[in-house]
This record gives sequence, structure tokens and C-alpha cells, in this order.
Amino acid sequence: MPGFEIFGEEERREVQEVLDTGVLMRYNFDGPRRGIFKARDFETALAKRLGAGHAHLVSSGTAALQVMLASCGVGAGDEVIVPTFTFVATVEAVLAAGAAPVFADIDETLCLCPRAAEKAITKRTKAIMPVHMCGSMARIDALKTLCREKGLLLLEDACQALGASFQGKALGRFGRMGCFSFDYVKTITCGEGGGLITDDADLYFKAQAFSDHGHDHVGQDRGAEGHPFIGLNFRTNEMNAAVGLAQLRKLDTILATQRKNKGILKEAMAAHKGVRFREIPDPSGDSATHLSFFMEREDQARALAKALPAHGVDGVFYWYDNNWHYIRKWDHIQKMESLAPLPLELRHDVPDYKALSHPASDAIMSRTLSMQIRLGWTQEDLETRIQGIEKAFASI
Ligand SMILES: *Cc1c(COP(=O)(O)O)cnc(C)c1O
Repeated sequence: MPGFEIFGEEERREVQEVLDTGVLMRYNFDGPRRGIFKARDFETALAKRLGAGHAHLVSSGTAALQVMLASCGVGAGDEVIVPTFTFVATVEAVLAAGAAPVFADIDETLCLCPRAAEKAITKRTKAIMPVHMCGSMARIDALKTLCREKGLLLLEDACQALGASFQGKALGRFGRMGCFSFDYVKTITCGEGGGLITDDADLYFKAQAFSDHGHDHVGQDRGAEGHPFIGLNFRTNEMNAAVGLAQLRKLDTILATQRKNKGILKEAMAAHKGVRFREIPDPSGDSATHLSFFMEREDQARALAKALPAHGVDGVFYWYDNNWHYIRKWDHIQKMESLAPLPLELRHDVPDYKALSHPASDAIMSRTLSMQIRLGWTQEDLETRIQGIEKAFASI
């Protein structure tokens, strides 16, 4: 997920235009900004690229998730079904909304299993929030059908899957809203940043107002703006947006390079007995940020996770032991360690997270490895990598 690999002249030029005006605020200052609106331009370009009705840029992917939940009216007393494998921000955002995350197993897509999600539904469930992990997709059609049948909101965490699609439609467009992250390690970066997309004009209005103290942004003079509801500040700024705007123009080149490099590595890996690849519901829509695969047994996966870097193959993730991405290592969530008292509903009515067990997810994650796909690899780098992979397999 390497937007940082390609920071260059284009990004510098966009930032320089902002510096030349001295206006870092995304709103107002209509005179001195001389028609430069980077955040707005980014939003227009993002909506167009993804085929969405509206896009709104915020300060981070985590902020985007919070704004999405608030805009959709998810809060205290609600439950949101989330997968056991995700970046922990998904869970944090639900908790910050005052709602309870309810964990459901993943399947071999490495994303939320529709059947597990269905089993997790209670009368408090308000939304299902699949996470499109490692550049590829959940069974989003099945999840959409499930939400329609049960009258639930489908909200997509597509933070890791910018540019990925299912049957030609961009991920993030299947739910009522979809979120992206433009942090430093995602497919494109703003330094820090996040975005929301939706086809619903009312939700868009709520999202852009909520992320700026509830201001309605009607009229020119900020002092005279209305504030139809309470908000917070999740604004982006012109500098970050300028970087992202240049990066967004490179998205299709990034995707093409990732797909090519992933294809080469996948072919080399396929020769090894016992390796099975992650299931991808629509392979043509994979954004190819990672090559994820399963070993037959946990001990083989563990051995390979050590052997690959030892033979020069870096960027390998064994998520089962990873603090950031898998429920097994989230001690703070399991204990509900909170700085301040939690909302009453969370104190009394949440499941005992410590007592939860997820054998179906464990059985998958304990055998899963992912390799990060880089843009800058030369033919020679790829060959060296493949040799490293051969040696690592031979050693286990
Ligand atoms: C990165 C990420 C986020 C949070 O994005 P930030 O911009 O880092 O706040 C949320 N969900 C997932 C799945 C992510 O990978």
C-alpha cells in the first residue's frame, strides 16, 4: 500500500500552489486563495474516479469511520457487526460512537463471513461494517442482500482497498457510505487523511457538516453559517489535500503496477505444494496491495514467517501475532480499558470480550501470511525475491 513510494514532483507542485497563496484552510478566504481549493478538487476527483455521487475529505480514515457512523445515526444502544480481522480503528470508531462492536468471524476472503454476520444479528444491531482487508473484497453482494433483508445499514470500511472493485463497481459504493484512509502506508497518501463516499445527498450533507462543528457551509461568511446539529472537527487542510490530489492522479498507474508485480509473485508461489491463496470474490477487482495465502498448518506458517525475512524477503505479515490487526492481541479491547467511564450501555450491555473465542477465525488467521506488494521493484528485485522465496520454502 505504497503511496509513499511515489512522492515526487507532482505532489511538490500541488503543495507549492497552496504555499503560494498562504491559505491552508479548506473553507473561506475566498480573496487570498485565488481560486485554489485543493480539498474540494480532491473530493470532485475522488467521486468521479469511484463513480460516487459525493465524496468528502477528512483528517484520517479513523475520522472518516466516526463521521460515517454519526451521519448514519449510529450511537448509544446500537450494535455494529465487525470482523475479527481488521485494523483496530474500525473497533475504536464504533466504541467512540458509543455503540457496541459485535465481532463476527471472517472466512477465506479474510473478510467478514456473511453467515457469521447473520448469526451475530440481535435486536440491537443497527449496522454491518465489513472491512475490505489487504486490498481485496468481502463477499459484498451477499452482505448487501443480508442487510437489505434484515433492514440493517451496510457501512463499508474500504480504508485498505482504494481502487478495488466488485463486478466493476468501486468498493465503498455498496453500502450507504464507504470510508477510505490516506494515511502514510495506504494505497495513496495525504500524509494523514481519510475520505467518505456516498450516493445519498442527505448523508453527504450530514458528513461535511458534522466534520466541521455542524456548520452547514451555506453562504460565504462563516460567522453567519447555521449549525443544524452538533458536530466536531475532523477537517482536512489544503496541504494534505494537495498531496492527495497529486497521488490520486497516479492511482491507476499504482494499481496496474501492483497487479503486475503481484501476478509475478503469485505464479512463483503457486508452484509450492500446500500453498493456497486467499479467496477473492472478483479477482479482476483486486487492488493487489498484498499477496495473501494459507499454509496447511500453523507451524508451517510460523516457520515461513521467520524463513522469508531470513532469506531477504521483507514486507511479510503473520497477522495472527500482530498487535494491530487481529482480535487475539487486542488486550485493551478485551478488557475494555478506557481512559474515561464508558457510556452506560457499553458498561452494562456489551458482550464480555474477554470470554469471546473465535476458533473459525483462528483456524484461518493462524495459517495466513501476507506479502506486501511494492511499486518500485525492478525485474531484478523480483527475481531476487523469488529466489528468496524458493530458499525459504526449502528451509522449512
Ligand atoms: C488504516 C485503516 C484505518 C484507519 O485509517 P487512519 O487514516 O490510519 O486513521 C481504518 N480501517 C482500516 C481497515 C485501516 O487499514
